[in-house]
Amino acid sequence: MTLKQRLPFMVFPVQAKPLKNPNIVFIDEDLKSFNEFSAMPTSEIVKVVNGEHENFQDLFSTVYCGHQFGYFVPQLGDGRASFLGTFKNHRGNLVELQMKGLGRTPFSRRGDGRAVFRSSLREYLCSHAMKALGIPTTEALALIDSEEIVYREEKEWGAIVLRAAPSFLRFGHVEFLYHHGYKNELEKLLDYTIEHFYPDYYSHPNAYVLFFQDLVKRTAKLMANWQTYGFCHGVMNTDNMSLLGLTIDYGPFGFLEAFDLKHICNHSDHEGRYAFGEQPLVALWNLERLADCLGDFIDQDTLKRTLGTYRELFNLEYLRLMKKRLGLQSSNELDAELMNVLLNFLQVSAVDYHGFFRNLAEKDGLEFIFSQLKSAESKASFDQFKKIYQARIDLEWGREEESEQKRFDFMNSVNPIYVLRNYLAQKIIDQHRYSDQGNKRDQVLCESQRLLKVLQRPFDWHEGCDDLSRVCPAEFLNIEISCSS
Ligand code: AMP
Ligand code: MG
Repeated sequence: MTLKQRLPFMVFPVQAKPLKNPNIVFIDEDLKSFNEFSAMPTSEIVKVVNGEHENFQDLFSTVYCGHQFGYFVPQLGDGRASFLGTFKNHRGNLVELQMKGLGRTPFSRRGDGRAVFRSSLREYLCSHAMKALGIPTTEALALIDSEEIVYREEKEWGAIVLRAAPSFLRFGHVEFLYHHGYKNELEKLLDYTIEHFYPDYYSHPNAYVLFFQDLVKRTAKLMANWQTYGFCHGVMNTDNMSLLGLTIDYGPFGFLEAFDLKHICNHSDHEGRYAFGEQPLVALWNLERLADCLGDFIDQDTLKRTLGTYRELFNLEYLRLMKKRLGLQSSNELDAELMNVLLNFLQVSAVDYHGFFRNLAEKDGLEFIFSQLKSAESKASFDQFKKIYQARIDLEWGREEESEQKRFDFMNSVNPIYVLRNYLAQKIIDQHRYSDQGNKRDQVLCESQRLLKVLQRPFDWHEGCDDLSRVCPAEFLNIEISCSS
């Protein structure tokens, strides 16, 4: 049974307002794996995504609420996302499809329900980048742009992303039913969630507890992945937290350039509530807000105990993933110290976070990194790291050439060459802004494809794409990414 059939009380019809002169930017192969779309020509797919295909008019959005920047907001909802419905993919799995930017929904409040090309391209690229890094995420299956003018801080162009996930359910959906006193409906939502997305627990007498334990674990692991790969989400409100532990709602996100725990990627986040280093604890705070809603299903002690497991789950996974990036897999009493000195070095040296790991997996990499350092402080902290790291490598890999190469290969299989640095998307966005059709548009499409391709296989070298692996040039260092997307 689908969300719409099982939870009709959360679902509200939407009348799409198609974009003017839509054009395809991306169609993902996976979209063709759905029976409904496999034989469809591109022109028809554009119609579907643009909400104007006669066979796909039954659009809807859902109601939720949430804590935004720490404050409870009693009603939110899909303000610009419209569900196309639930479809079966080639693996036989049910997938929800959703378009973002089709105009006003019952939950648009003062917004126009539109999405601009800038943020839609960023979401499309980032969904693919995250998937390729092995980080749980919603997916993006098509992107169209248009000649529809949309006003943000300046005049922009409307676009729509077709996105996919087993479910787009959020903490905010639970919060809505709980805080408005819809007890029976909340039970139905939880049962639906467990039956479809945590099926192993469905018939278990302790299903709710097992579900919550699993979600805490998934969320901790998701945060460990974000921290490991330097992903900063930017708007970790509870309505942007997935009940499945996925990365959801790409907005003013950014990947780190230099490692900085204080890095704020959302220009509107003046206090740094969602700064890079805060993310793991914000996720816990969000889980606590979810737990506030589960008292009728799980006793308080169990809720508390389960939340209490979060830090350890996060720490263990973060350590495991970071060690993997360093080429280490065994456990050692010096692990905690190794992480301390590593993070301290990264923070004080401001070396490029992603380049650092690739450099480590090169012959004389440690020496090379040292030679690039300028301040005495970063040299001293690097020495501390090097001492422990070298010892750990010797222990785990030895010093023979053959094993060194094996270590490099291992590290290179988990450390991306290509990262969705803000400036890479911004270059295309700038080109797009000044392209009125013709050759320039072709160039935008070609550059978008090229960037997508390297992000989908970020660990391999792609010929002729060296420029996409470079650190951010100075003129792009201060791009401001706001919430207004
Ligand atoms: P976000 O921070 O992007 O997750 O958005 C928070 C809430 O505002 C969600 O309910 C969105 O659907 C809604 N929203 C954001 N932008 C718009 C827009 N342009 N039009 C309508 N609703 C919007
Ligand atoms: Mg959102």
